[in-house]
Parts: sequence; C-alpha cells; structure tokens
Amino acid sequence: PAFLEASGVTMRFGDHVAVRDVTLGLARGEVVSIIGPSGAGKSTFLRCVNLLEIPTRGTLRVGDTSLSVGPGATPRERDIQALRRRLGMVFQNFNLFPHLTVLRNVSLAQERVLGRSPAEAEARSMSLLERVGLADKAGAYPGRCSGGQQQRVAIARALALDPAVMLFDEPTSALDPEVGAEVLAVMKELAADGMTMIVVTHEMAFARDVSDRIVVMVDGAVVEAGDPHQIMASP
Ligand code: ADP
Ligand code: ADP
Repeated sequence: PAFLEASGVTMRFGDHVAVRDVTLGLARGEVVSIIGPSGAGKSTFLRCVNLLEIPTRGTLRVGDTSLSVGPGATPRERDIQALRRRLGMVFQNFNLFPHLTVLRNVSLAQERVLGRSPAEAEARSMSLLERVGLADKAGAYPGRCSGGQQQRVAIARALALDPAVMLFDEPTSALDPEVGAEVLAVMKELAADGMTMIVVTHEMAFARDVSDRIVVMVDGAVVEAGDPHQIMASP
C-alpha cells in the first residue's frame, strides 16, 4: 500500500478548475517529480496535499493519518493539523523569518510545535545545518545569506520537524543556476537517504536523474506518469 496517497483531488477557484481529479500514491522512500507548463495546477495540487489549500474534494492519507473533503465532508482543524504535521514544505521563495538568525529560524518551530527545549532544538538545528553545509551561518541573518543558502536553511527548517514526507514547490526557480545546484545537491542527498518526496520542478535533469517517477500535469490533470527515462524519451 502507498505511504502517501492523494485520491481524487479537485480544486476549483470559482468556475476555474485548477486541479482535476488527481490521484497520486507514493511508497515510502519514493521520489516523484511533478512537471508541466506554468498554470497546470502543480503548485495548487502540492498545496492541497499539504492542506495549505483545502481542496474542493478529495482524500489525503499519510501513513494512518487520513482526511476526506467534499460536499458534506468538512475537515476538522485537528485533523488538518495532524496531517500537516507529517509533511515538510519548501517554497519557491524560502519564506524565512528575516528578523531571526538562521539558527532561530530552524529552532523556533521545534520549540513551538514539538515542545522541544531550546537546548534540544538548538542541537538538532546545528546537526541539520551541518547536513545542508551551513553550520558556519548559524548566527547570520537570512539577509546575509545567498538565495541558495536561504533555501538550504528552509530545507533544514522543514526537516527539523521530522516530517514523513517532504514537499518541494519549485525550490530552485528563484535561484541562479549555480546556487540552484547547491540546493539540488542537498535534495539529491535527501532522496538517497530514503526521504519520501514530491518535487514540483522545471529542473528536467533532476526530474530524470533523481526521481523514481515523473508525473506530467496539463490543465489541472495528470496526462502522463511513469519511469523518468520513458517520460523524457516520449515525443
Ligand atoms: P502551476 O504551479 O502548474 O504553475 P498553479 O497551481 O500555480 O499552476 O495554478 C493553476 C491555476 O490555478 C492557474 O490558472 C492559477 O491562476 C489558478 N490559481 C491558483 N491559485 C489560485 C487562487 N488562489 N485563486 C484563483 N485561481 C488560482
Ligand atoms: P506558482 O505558479 O509558483 O504557484 P503563482 O504566481 O501562480 O505562482 O501563484 C502565486 C500565488 O498567487 C499563489 O498563492 C496562488 O494561490 C495565487 N494565485 C495564482 N493565481 C491566482 C488567481 N488567478 N487569483 C488569485 N490568486 C491567484
């Protein structure tokens, strides 16, 4: 059985159907890239998986935590929080707190959400900052870091909450190719370590070389899905 399952996810904005009955399952440790033209609904689908957008209808499950939305099925805030806790999210624009140091950015939610002591949170943060190659930036403010460094901090921050699955929404789209490569290298290591990941991306080399599966979305729907080398070879 799939570890993460999104079934029949539809998201309407008024008359516009941004995501059309999308179903996607991931095994534990699987990496799926979602590709497709701008406006295809990739980002909206990812935000539905994380319940940043409550879909118009659909069922979401991570492990044994599940939730259904639809006419007559309004999710409870408690269930939304329970599902969201299992997912780490990385955004295109990093979304770090500018007034907090890199270390505090990574530590804060551990204290507030997981109830870790400041010392525990700091120790965990430092080990994650080492993992993403930024231990020397712990005391710096985000404004003093490059975009690639900020995005690696954002990855460390998401990992700090021990998510079961990591969701990436175009994590390198705001970055120059050189610094984007540093971020992709961290993501590739995470994948090799067995993290379950969904990655919305325009990075075709990453999608081909790192993902186990590629899903192609057009106009809100999945039009193709399968082995990266097959998808990339298709005309
Ligand atoms: P992609 O990530 O593939 O570029 P998006 O998920 O960002 O696509 O957008 C899919 C479609 O949904 C687009 O037409 C976009 O304008 C629309 N859309 C996204 N968010 C909203 C919103 N909050 N309100 C209305 N329309 C939206
Ligand atoms: P992306 O493709 O990276 O999601 P967008 O520019 O499509 O970037 O969307 C940025 C934000 O604007 C998102 O929060 C999305 O929900 C919102 N948005 C996108 N399209 C619309 C729209 N037509 N009306 C209202 N909000 C929108």
